[in-house]
Amino acid sequence: MQIQKSFKQDLACLYLVATPIGNLGDMTPRCIEVLKSVDLIAAEDTRHTKKLCHVFEIETPLTSYHEHNKESKGDYIIELLSEGKNIALVSDAGLPCISDPGYEVVAAAIEAGYAVIPVPGANAALSALIASGLVPQPFLFYGFLNRVKSKKKKELEDLKYQPFTTIYYESPHRIKETLQAMLEVLGNRRLVIARELTKQYEEFVRGTIEEVLEMVDELRGEMVVIVEGSTEKKEDTLWWENLDVIEHVEHYVEEGYSTNESIKRVAKERKIPKNEVYRAYHVN
Ligand code: SAM
Repeated sequence: MQIQKSFKQDLACLYLVATPIGNLGDMTPRCIEVLKSVDLIAAEDTRHTKKLCHVFEIETPLTSYHEHNKESKGDYIIELLSEGKNIALVSDAGLPCISDPGYEVVAAAIEAGYAVIPVPGANAALSALIASGLVPQPFLFYGFLNRVKSKKKKELEDLKYQPFTTIYYESPHRIKETLQAMLEVLGNRRLVIARELTKQYEEFVRGTIEEVLEMVDELRGEMVVIVEGSTEKKEDTLWWENLDVIEHVEHYVEEGYSTNESIKRVAKERKIPKNEVYRAYHVN
């Protein structure tokens, strides 16, 4: 067990500082004060954060902390904390750790006994949720679905019967395919797309998945997708039920199994002869 008294300890702190998701007016006075006061800012993209610092006259040195250097930079951050230096972690937008880098260094700092202090502010998921008009709690934050179609469908299958309003992040390039997969797996539920939040062209598109699919090609920019929870109870369903034989085999191939092994697994799961799967996969 560990108890952190955030403001009653002498050790160095790791601050997790929110930054705007599009509107600089969402930079809070406390966020600015903390970024000015720390010894170093670890940023997802230092060029991006440099611009933000310039606007708010923050002169603290920056270092990068991102997906590809998180191990070595995490060690470096812990070393600085051990020297009594206070560090702030920021991502490009919103809250660090929420579909953004941060979790590993947070866990390491806690493990090493330092205080990890949130400095809240803008966040796309919760901003979208509260204005969606869908039941706001209980909710499930999912973040990005897998980009690979068969894996995306499998993830949706796993979510199909959970009754909570669910929040997804999605890119405009993949939104159409994602809505099609949602329609196929979840059925025609109510859905809200919150686009360009806090920016000049902020927009909420509220409707059923089918209705939104009809105009999805017009949707650009950053978006949050909120889907109502299931009203159905889970029967004994199989995760691959909505995949055809080829997608089912592809799922295992993408997982790293050989084609033969994948075919064998699919045949076993579907209780059909191996040569039938083989033919479907190789002939088509
Ligand atoms: N850490 C961020 C947060 O707290 O919201 C999220 C970062 S994640 C890498 C980026 C995704 O968040 C985008 O692809 C989009 O789905 C969502 N997002 C970020 N800013 C947004 C905005 N202004 N409007 C709508 N969605 C946004």
